[in-house]
Parts: sequence; structure tokens; C-alpha cells
Amino acid sequence: MRVYYDRDADVNLIKAKKVVIYGYGSQGHAHALNMRDSGVKDVAIALRQDSPSRKKAELANFPIMELDAAARWADVVMVVVPDELQAALYRDYLKPHLKQGAALAFAHGFNIHFKLIEPRADLDVFMIAPKGPGHTVRSEFARGAGVPCLLAIERNSSGNAQEIALSYGSSIGGGRAGIIETTFREECETDLFGEQTVLCGGVTALVMTAYETLVEAGYAPEMAYFECLHELKLIVDLFYEGGIANMRYSVSNTAEYGDYTRGRRIITDETRAEMKRILSEIQSGQFAREWVLENQAGQPSFKAMRNRSAEHPIEAVGEKLRAMMPWLGRNRLVDRTRN
Ligand code: NAD
Ligand code: MG
Repeated sequence: MRVYYDRDADVNLIKAKKVVIYGYGSQGHAHALNMRDSGVKDVAIALRQDSPSRKKAELANFPIMELDAAARWADVVMVVVPDELQAALYRDYLKPHLKQGAALAFAHGFNIHFKLIEPRADLDVFMIAPKGPGHTVRSEFARGAGVPCLLAIERNSSGNAQEIALSYGSSIGGGRAGIIETTFREECETDLFGEQTVLCGGVTALVMTAYETLVEAGYAPEMAYFECLHELKLIVDLFYEGGIANMRYSVSNTAEYGDYTRGRRIITDETRAEMKRILSEIQSGQFAREWVLENQAGQPSFKAMRNRSAEHPIEAVGEKLRAMMPWLGRNRLVDRTRN
């Protein structure tokens, strides 16, 4: 596995380019702010006229451009609008207007890998995908550190795509932590698998099921929240710092014994078989097709699931308990008025 650092990148390359970030959401705001702080002068944000993100980008003093004009102006375009909207953005605004030989960049491999976008032959196509939420990409950079990024080159038409991608990655702080070389396929498939089985799907199902089990057995919802959700952060911090053994070193022997003897009863051979099925659905493109169809239909089940989940009692209990811990709200990563 190849890893690049700031010393391997020439940050001046990107400083000489006109960069447009399409989208000013989780990733967009972090890329734009970090780049500007790295000395990239020509950074503009491209947004729809009615975009709720306009106010945030204005507040941060970025020039805002129309979707077609931005494509005509840019040397490098980073597409950080939601994955499900990228193909239409490319078709309607980027394909017809991008300069010959411009660079088209992504922060996730979904649209390229599943061929929802098939870029013009003259373009460079690369990925710089930070391995963390956008708000962390910004907060780590601001404290002098960085979030590791993945780099992949899909097409090197200029002969310079790798150097430009490294320069881009360095300017958003990736080179401080490491820029790891991969492919669009590997990034896309592992990213989907991780978020479905562990990071988003697996962990929320685990937390909610455990919470429900305690509450149904008559325990106080507040206790269930603390044990099954709140304390997860403390455990994950120990993982993050030193791996699983580091966590086991820190918890009590009782907790560690319960971990060894009970964990495998929760995550069973059946779970492993299901993980393999989920991976095959990703690899075969079945998941991508399902998500594309859901979007073509206007996201009816997605929106319904989002609403139903937000009404789960664990959210109301959590809100009440977090209000008792006001320090949690200080230095928040997410401030919905700004980022
Ligand atoms: P987001 O939903 O937070 O933000 C999307 C932004 O795009 C918003 O500013 C929105 O107003 C704007 N937008 C929507 N439609 C648009 C259009 N047609 N034209 C121009 N702007 C439009 O999105 P995000 O979570 O930052 O994800 C963006 C990309 O980054 C995706 O490819 C995602 O997979 C990838 N990614 C995200 C994260 C993350 O931390 N959320 C991490 C790694 C990679
Ligand atoms: Mg991911």
C-alpha cells in the first residue's frame, strides 16, 4: 500500500489552479476552508440558485458561481454534491461546459465505479476521499492535524493527474496524516460495506436493539441510553487511540470477560453470512441499482425511514439527557447555521 505525505506533494500546483467546489455541505465546506487556509486563492463554490447552502458559503466569504459558469471557469472541479445528484449535475452542467483537459474530482467512487458518470475522454479524473466526516476534516485541519485521505486516479489525460490529486489532498490536510493510494472500485466497495455493516447500519441497529431490550425489560430509558449509546463514544475513543487491546486494557476484567464470552453470541455465523451477502450486493451493483431507483422515485422509502427513525424514543431520551450535560454542546463539530 502506497502512502504519500506532504513532503511527496507540491502544494503549489493547486495554488496555480482555479478550483470550483460543487456543493457546500459536509465535505464541501471543509475542502473549501482548508484549501483557502493552505493558500489556494482561486476557490469558488458552485451552488444552485435556491440552495440552502448559499448563506453558509457567503458567510465564509467564498465567491458563489452558477453551475454552468463555474464549469467554464474551473481548472479543477470537486464534485461534493450528494452522490445521487452527481450524474445529473455532470450531464447538465459539467459535460457541456468543462474546459478541455480540466480535472474532475470526487470524494467517493460511487458514480464513476458504477458508471453513472462516464467522463469525457479529455478530462483527468481523480478521487481525494477523506476518511472522515467533513466536519472532522475541518476541525482536525484547524487544530493543525489532518484526516487521512484516499487517492485514486481513474484517468490521467494530462499526464499530471496524480500530481494534481496529491496537491489537492495536501491542501485539505490529507498529507499531514497520509494520503493512501487505492482505486475507485476498492474505495467505493469498502466504503459502502463499512457504512452498511459497521459504521452506520450495524452500529445503529446494535445500539437501538440493545436499548429496546433494556427498556422492554423494565429498566429506565435513561439508563438504557447511557449504557447502550452514550458510553459507546468512550469505548470508540479507546479503539481509535490504540486498537481493541487498548480498550480491553482500560475496561474492568469483568467487562473484558463478558466481552470475550458474549460478543460472539451477538455477532454470529449468521451475521457473518449476512455480511457476505451485503458485500455481494455491493459488488454486483445491486445496491447501487436499488439506490438509483429509489432516487428516481423521489426517495419515498428513504424519507419514510428517516422520519420513522427520528421518532424512536431513544432520540427523545437522548435530547433530555444531553441537556443535562451542557459541556457536550461546546465546540460542536456540527453547527447547522454555518456548516
Ligand atoms: P452534503 O449533503 O453534506 O452536501 C451537499 C451539498 O451539495 C450541499 O451544499 C447542497 O446544497 C449541494 N447541492 C445539492 N445539489 C446540488 C446541485 N445539483 N448542484 C450543486 N450543489 C448541490 O453532502 P456530503 O455528505 O458532503 O457528500 C458529498 C460527497 O462527499 C459525496 O460523494 C459523499 O459520498 C462524499 N463523502 C462524504 C463524506 C461526509 O463526511 N459526509 C465523507 C467522505 C466522502
Ligand atoms: Mg465512508
